[in-house]
Amino acid sequence: MAQLNGVIVATGAASGIGRASAEVFAEQGAVVLGVDVADDGLATLRTRNIETIHADVTSQADCVRVAERAAELGPVRGLFNCAGLERHGSVVDTPEDDWDRVQDVNLKSIYLMSKAVIPRLHSSGGGAIVNMSSIQAHATQTEVAAYAATKGGVISLTRAMALDHGPENIRVTAICPGTIETPLVRANAEYFDPEDPQRQLAEWGRMHALNRIGQAGEVARFAAFLLSDEASFVTGSWHLVDGGLLAS
Ligand code: NAD
Repeated sequence: MAQLNGVIVATGAASGIGRASAEVFAEQGAVVLGVDVADDGLATLRTRNIETIHADVTSQADCVRVAERAAELGPVRGLFNCAGLERHGSVVDTPEDDWDRVQDVNLKSIYLMSKAVIPRLHSSGGGAIVNMSSIQAHATQTEVAAYAATKGGVISLTRAMALDHGPENIRVTAICPGTIETPLVRANAEYFDPEDPQRQLAEWGRMHALNRIGQAGEVARFAAFLLSDEASFVTGSWHLVDGGLLAS
């Protein structure tokens, strides 16, 4: 089990992969600051002794507030940019508002939060950032044009950040999960098969070499490894946590 120390900021912490990650990071020794706009989920995290803050990752002022709160909790050593959402449609079908929202939450948020947190990592002597990409950056499907574009962008941004901040001892990596059972994926299954979402989930499971979809904790433990000193020579890279989906 990877050991974590200092403060780790985790966005999208109220649900799914972000919530599982906040819990795993705390179990592995970090002081976690969970960031989200969903207050119910944040309240659940607080019952597990995890610090939370209501903040919108698309707001620069909120991201600055998050970085300030994190620094009050101790030396900031990590950032998991996990918040995300999905809208459906080809480029023809996607309304401009949906396109902009997906870009803002999935991609621009990484710029805003990293811009606020990197100076704190720097003053702690370095640390690590993990950005949430997706299998959709590599092998996508129909009707997710805006989402797939952001997840490809996350990989390019990850490389650029790794080069810029490597000399400051800040490592930057990206994770590309396959299909993981979360509220986001359950909503997707309802979109693609409204009559029988379970059938859709099972069909997606069969596309993975392991013949099942993944669980949030399986991504969370990998994120913890990337954030830990165990991954001290890992940067500028993206990592599949996909149960063999891309192998098929
Ligand atoms: P989820 O819907 O369960 O959780 C996403 C969280 O992000 C929610 O708590 C939501 O409130 C939060 N969020 C959304 N907009 C926000 C904002 N403006 N400010 C702060 N928080 C905001 O989804 P999930 O499946 O756990 O997805 C987490 C991340 O993993 C996303 O970036 C998603 O694209 C990515 N991902 C998921 C899968 C999957 O199969 N579930 C696969 C690949 C990548």
